[in-house]
Amino acid sequence: MQARFVPAALLLTVAQASFAAVTGAELDAAAAALEGRVIEWRRDFHRHPELANREVRTSARVAEHLRTLGLEVRTGMAHTGIVAIVQGKLPGPTVLLRADMDALPVTESTDLPFRSTATGEFRGRSVGVMHACGHDAHTAILMGVAEVLVQFRDRLPGKVLLVFQPAEEGAPEGERGGAPLMLDEGLLEPARPDAAFALHVGSMLNTGQVMLRPGPLMAGSDFFSILVTGRQSHGSRPWKGIDPIVVSAGIVSALQTIVSRQTDITDLPAVVTVGAINGGVRHNIIPDSVELLGTIRTFSDASRQDVIDRMRRIASNVAEASGATATLELMPAPNPPVVNDPALTEQVTRSLERALGEGSVIPSRLLTVGEDFAYIARAVPSVYWWVGITPAGTDPATAPDNHSDKFFVDEAGIQVGLRSLLHVAVDYLQAGSGR
Ligand SMILES: [Zn+2]
Ligand SMILES: [Zn+2]
Repeated sequence: MQARFVPAALLLTVAQASFAAVTGAELDAAAAALEGRVIEWRRDFHRHPELANREVRTSARVAEHLRTLGLEVRTGMAHTGIVAIVQGKLPGPTVLLRADMDALPVTESTDLPFRSTATGEFRGRSVGVMHACGHDAHTAILMGVAEVLVQFRDRLPGKVLLVFQPAEEGAPEGERGGAPLMLDEGLLEPARPDAAFALHVGSMLNTGQVMLRPGPLMAGSDFFSILVTGRQSHGSRPWKGIDPIVVSAGIVSALQTIVSRQTDITDLPAVVTVGAINGGVRHNIIPDSVELLGTIRTFSDASRQDVIDRMRRIASNVAEASGATATLELMPAPNPPVVNDPALTEQVTRSLERALGEGSVIPSRLLTVGEDFAYIARAVPSVYWWVGITPAGTDPATAPDNHSDKFFVDEAGIQVGLRSLLHVAVDYLQAGSGR
């Protein structure tokens, strides 16, 4: 018996020494050492952008990197998605970190030496392709996070589920994709996360700043169509038909009263936008039908349902008043709102303030853009934050917006993203293991 006590005691000493908590300074040093490579990866992705569900090259690069770190890599999830787990040596919680990989059908017009000249197919047309939303930065950042976590694996509690997600901007027509498809394909099955984190680079903030808020952060987004059906007639004899163009004009105007007259604006805002009207071919023919296309933005399930009910009522009653019909259809797989878990947001805010300095963390307004990370945030307590990439000294209000053909990522912001994700994840793991 006694012979067994000695090695056990020795082991404990060794264990205590090598399992000392990972410090913020150590994370920063490791992140700084990696900065050049992370920027190289990002430029490589930027030069070779790929549209949603077609992130083949990007995904292969990510998988190759994760394999060189000695990680077991699951590929081909939701088409091109990748998942790997960094297993800490100590028991502890599980966190999920997610980056998106897809680019947009935008022809780049920056003069960067690594600008994209790539093309792709979008809705049957050849289009320019550009990382106009910064997902190239997100992917490179998470590759860097993976490398640092692996370096500290022996001293880390718990595990980290690294998720490289395709098609955040929406799958091509007729296909599924993105976060909901990854979830359906068992994203959370190998290790149920206790928390999930993601970031987005944004031109609305200067480099060095990050932004978040507890509760709803980004809007749920629905896409809708309204088909207005009347009866065709000669443009000179409108009384012979039912004019769906005049009916559509009435519907478009009446829809605006949902937000201006029918929504409690002291609660949560909403947006109803008609973005396309398709109908008619000639000056003097009243067409049979008109199609309206648009989007709805809401910040809660109740508000979403309320807006949809009102839209349906308005569309069908305005149409009926003229003897026409109108049917509202919602596109499948709408994004729910991104809701930050309030308690976790407090914890994350403290980590971000420690990592970046107190003045760097800015309270966010509600943002009416959508994001499919919302699906993960529904399944797991989550926090999502924005990372500034407009150079210090430039007014963010004048910077080209995300999705613009001139969208520009100040690469100094990539380091801020890398450090923010590392600090948040490692703080969470170490706090969750009782440290
Ligand atoms: Zn985007
Ligand atoms: Zn994006």
